[in-house]
Amino acid sequence: MDKVECVVIGAGVIGLAIARRLARAGREVVVLEAAEGIGTVTSSRNSEVIHAGIYYKAGSLMARMCVSGKQALYEYCREHGIPHRNCGKLIVATSPKETEKLQSIRAHAEANGVLDLQALSGEAARQLEPALNCDAALLSPSTGIVDSHAFMLALRGDAEASGAAFAFHTPLLRARASAGEIELDAGGEAPTTLTCRLVINAAGLAASAIARSIDGMPIELIPPAYLAKGNYFSCSARAPFSRLIYPVPEPGGLGVHLTLDMAGQARFGPDVEWIDAIDYAVDPARAERFYPAIRRYWPTLPDGALMPSYSGIRPKIVPPAVAVQDFLIQGPREHGVAGLINLFGIESPGLTSSLAIADHVGELADM
Ligand SMILES: Cc1cc2nc3c(=O)[nH]c(=O)nc-3n(C[C@H](O)[C@H](O)[C@H](O)COP(=O)(O)OP(=O)(O)OC[C@H]3O[C@@H](n4cnc5c(N)ncnc54)[C@H](O)[C@@H]3O)c2cc1C
Repeated sequence: MDKVECVVIGAGVIGLAIARRLARAGREVVVLEAAEGIGTVTSSRNSEVIHAGIYYKAGSLMARMCVSGKQALYEYCREHGIPHRNCGKLIVATSPKETEKLQSIRAHAEANGVLDLQALSGEAARQLEPALNCDAALLSPSTGIVDSHAFMLALRGDAEASGAAFAFHTPLLRARASAGEIELDAGGEAPTTLTCRLVINAAGLAASAIARSIDGMPIELIPPAYLAKGNYFSCSARAPFSRLIYPVPEPGGLGVHLTLDMAGQARFGPDVEWIDAIDYAVDPARAERFYPAIRRYWPTLPDGALMPSYSGIRPKIVPPAVAVQDFLIQGPREHGVAGLINLFGIESPGLTSSLAIADHVGELADM
């Protein structure tokens, strides 16, 4: 049976950032990935926004990891030549009630350490974005966008340069924890059993299922897995905006917002659709809800301009009735299994937070 010091399960942006962090600290690392390559699941089905950290519950892991992860990500992008743009975003109010809400959004952001939001009148916002309809807005200068694939390639390159090895087409099937070691059975074309001292469960949508397959992991501490799909629509008309445009959030979601990719192409979404099984098809009929929502801030959106684009699925660990969830990162102190770290519910802002999450996991691994 092969022995290895650390195994990371999953080569999405989180597993990659953790593998890099551990390998650079001098640990022997093997990454097991079920798919054919890196970042083929949620890490390539998102908005690629570098979030500022405005909305998350003060003191939550999401709030802390987003704010520190954002800084780390901008620095990493600059140092490694990763395409990114610190384009900023506008949160726009289109009614007096929403204008009132901007105040509390700003206060909440400040509690999270996001101190750079600027309040703008409707006119000042239109000087930045002339096609915009709004009564007032908040400008978030630290929001941006990143080429997530280039970022993940660089993380993989760094991890490999520090000695990490990747095994693709190699799903973890089950594991047994006992006496400070964990024995893993991996499948694929060359099924194998590995023994290791540290296992990081970064399997995204499959993280709860992976935890359940580990003998010794207390079942009552494994959160249930729910799926909340986010659908995107692209726009056949050129969207006349150079910043990201978000409505004032509504209960349960951020509203239909406009983000830009690195090529300047606009997309709208994601919305929230709770589903029972993984299915990435985008129902064209959902566009009907997008048009009126977008026209509140972009009244001249032409009829027929929205086209179904792609979707991603949020790995939820709380049901629809519970509006807020946090990242759940469990180490031995929480579950009692030596050498096991589980990452559950790593939805947005997971991409932004990835380097900070990797540091946090690195610290847990050193304990
Ligand atoms: C619609 C949407 C929009 C988002 N927008 C943003 C955004 O703009 N900004 C932001 O910061 N965040 C955003 N996020 C969040 C971000 O995309 C995720 O937090 C991040 O990609 C999660 O990465 P991950 O590595 O945990 O998961 P994944 O990328 O899903 O990686 C998990 C990996 O584990 C592998 N795996 C699964 N089972 C096994 C097994 N048995 N054995 C081995 N490997 C296995 C999978 O194949 C996969 O490669 C968004 C998310 C969604 C859904």
